[in-house]
Amino acid sequence: MRTKLRLFSILLLIFCSGLGLGLGVAASDTYQVFINGNPSKIQVEQDKETLLVPITLPAAAENEEFTVGLHRDDKAHKVEVKISSPKVKLRGAVDCYYCSGNGMCANDYPPGSGRNYSNITDGSCNGTGRCYHCTGTGKL
Ligand SMILES: [Zn+2]
Ligand SMILES: [Zn+2]
Repeated sequence: MRTKLRLFSILLLIFCSGLGLGLGVAASDTYQVFINGNPSKIQVEQDKETLLVPITLPAAAENEEFTVGLHRDDKAHKVEVKISSPKVKLRGAVDCYYCSGNGMCANDYPPGSGRNYSNITDGSCNGTGRCYHCTGTGKL
């Protein structure tokens, strides 16, 4: 029997490999992270040619399945992250009671800012300010 997951979120360090196409210049500028099209306050770390993108994934049930895609754009200095879950397709009927239907992350202060009370990037919404239960749609 499997042990039930008791963690509510797991932190994944996703290694976004640099393509190293002879760019030559060390990109010291920070990269803007977008999660499913929403600008995030996540801070990217850089290890030589590799960007480290900390992503939070919610483990609300025993088994969760996510598809995570990364697109690194060195010219625009951004990393686009797409996180999708098969469960989301089942949603859309009722108002989300986690965010009172407004789509903003209730863990943020102020709500929707992507930061928590300590002014640190909020992990539950990956710094996007969008309610992760309804992915910002306000509907479950
Ligand atoms: Zn949040
Ligand atoms: Zn919501």
